[in-house]
Order: sequence, then C-alpha cells, then structure tokens
Amino acid sequence: MPKTDFGPPDYREMIPPIVAENYGKWRYHTIPQPGVLKHFSESGVVLTSVRVASPRLVSTDFVREICDIADAYCDGHVRFTTRHNIEFLLSDESKVESLLEELAAKDYMVGGVGHAISNVVHTQGWIHCKSAVTDASGLVKCVMDELQDYYVGKRSVPARLRIAVACCVNMCGACHSSDIAIVGIHRTLPRVDHEMASKICEVRSTVASCPTGAIRPNPKLKSIDISDEKCMYCGNCAAVCPAISTMDPDGDGVSIWVGGKVSNARTTPKLTRLAIPYLPNNPPRWPEATEAVKHLVEVWAEGAKPGERMGEWIDRIGWERFFQVTGIPFTDKHIDDFSHATTTFRATTQFRF
Ligand code: SF4
Ligand code: SF4
Repeated sequence: MPKTDFGPPDYREMIPPIVAENYGKWRYHTIPQPGVLKHFSESGVVLTSVRVASPRLVSTDFVREICDIADAYCDGHVRFTTRHNIEFLLSDESKVESLLEELAAKDYMVGGVGHAISNVVHTQGWIHCKSAVTDASGLVKCVMDELQDYYVGKRSVPARLRIAVACCVNMCGACHSSDIAIVGIHRTLPRVDHEMASKICEVRSTVASCPTGAIRPNPKLKSIDISDEKCMYCGNCAAVCPAISTMDPDGDGVSIWVGGKVSNARTTPKLTRLAIPYLPNNPPRWPEATEAVKHLVEVWAEGAKPGERMGEWIDRIGWERFFQVTGIPFTDKHIDDFSHATTTFRATTQFRF
C-alpha cells in the first residue's frame, strides 16, 4: 500500500519490544499499588506500567519532560491512554521504585488504575473552539482538585469512575459514555448579524448545518432567519457562519449527565442521561458544578455495590430513587419531548430499528 501522510500510523511500528515479543501471550495483571500495573506473560516476562495524570492540554516543556523520564527509565517507551493518562512502560522491574520517587519529586499524580477515577477527558474549550460555552480545561482542573484523592487511591470508589467535560452539546469528547459528564449548554437563540451574513456567509451550507431544520434563507436580506421553536441551541450554525453568535454570558450554563460507560462488562454499553439541566457557568472555579460532581461521586460511592458503575447502580435502584438519594430536583427539563425523541429515549448504545 502506498504510504500516506494522514491517518494514524501503524501501531506495530511503535509498540515496545517487550510487548511485540509477547503479543497475544499476556495472561493476567495485578495492581500492587495505586497507579502501578504488573502484566505477566506466559513466557515469564513481566511488564510494569506506571500511570500518571495529565492536564491533557500540555506545553512542549511538559512533553519533553515526559520523554526524558521515559528515556531514563523505560528505554523511551511511554504511551497515552484513551483518557490521556500517561503510562510509563518498564521492562526492568528494578527501575520502578526510582521512577516512582522521581515522579513524586516532580509532583506527578500517580494513580487512576482499577477502581479509581481516571484522568478527566475534555474538549477544547475557550482555548480553541468558537462554539465553547465554557472553559473545559479550567473546569476539569477544578473538578480534579476536589477528586484527586480518588485518583491516587487515598479514597476508594466501588468501580471505575470516568468523568468527561464537553464545552457544548456537540460533545466532541467522551461525554455520552462517561459515568459523569459535564456539558456546556447555550440556552438562548443564536443572534445573526444580517449585514455581515449577507457578505460572508454561504446561505445554503448554513441552512444545511442545522440538525433541526431551524434555519431558513432570508432572501430579502441575503441572510438567514432562525426559528426559536425549532432551535435546540447547539451552536452548530455558528461554526459554519461567523455572522452567527451563540455566546450569552447570562444564559449559558453547564448541565450534568450520568450513567454512561463504554464497557461491555455485566451490562451493555450505556449513554449518559440528564441529571442536572442547568448550573451557572461560573469561572474561574465553577463552585456549583464542582460541588455537584463531588456530591454525585460521594452518593454513588456510598450506595453502590463493589464493581457497580454509576449507570448500573442507577439501574438497580431506579431513576426515581436516584433523584431521591441525590436530592436533585426532577423537573420538566428531564422529560424528553424533542421531536426525534424516540431515538434519544434509548440509554444503551445498542440500537435496534
Ligand atoms: Fe467545540 Fe463543542 Fe467540541 Fe467544545 S464540545 S470543542 S465547543 S465542538
Ligand atoms: Fe440549528 Fe443549532 Fe443553530 Fe439552533 S443553534 S439554529 S439548532 S444549528
């Protein structure tokens, strides 16, 4: 096949020799301490991985430092997990202790393995995306400041805990499949600068960008009109036409969703469901959203059986009881009356039509 300059590279070119040599031979793993995994191969080889948290948006200096650590302890082998934990892969067990000492000296958080909170994934936020309601990375920092004990193993949770933040409902992060998701929401109709739209917007593609058919051409103004009845405030149109603005400091906020998971273990993979429709978007520390997430984790940790993910716990106790035990008010916003709701009613990823 011809070599192209796009798409992911072939993973086989990058895996450490110890993994390549033992491919398909790994028998089991143990977790001797928080953040440390030992993988045992049927050939007798042991691979140790040491996991640390990352802020996901990182500087060049930070990447250089990770590479230097990997060069010193892991023959240069390091990987990022799907939730952007950094994993140092050691084939030489004698180096594990000194690696842990160096990581502690450099204030890395070691943990996130097994029944623990993993690294919090998030979308681009104000730093990059023009649809962003909120600053995803700032919100993650505040949430993780509260929950870091669950990462490093000082406090335990009944099962894996995945948290994600998306800064708008387009949710280009993993929010639909996380135990707890924080999603930024616009709540007011996008504003159109007709004069600018007539000069720089392509009407047809702007109309086509709307998933609910809320945009119609306005031939008189050579612009577009948006129907408040049909608009769900997703902000998609603003990404296509710069003359449309969705930002509203007073109306915008964050919502909290619960119960998603990717895993097939015990039950089918699940999509998240709306738990809290609106909280203020309150930088720089987002106290309302942070407190709500912490509360959900604590109530779940107290009520769930060992191994029970948040969605499984909710299914066992029932959606109604979930609102009782968490003290979250059930409102009309929890009732899905969207015209395409027959598909969104489903809380599993396994669709059948
Ligand atoms: Fe942009 Fe929305 Fe993705 Fe955030 S979630 S980066 S606002 S598309
Ligand atoms: Fe359509 Fe979303 Fe724009 Fe509303 S915000 S008009 S639903 S694209």
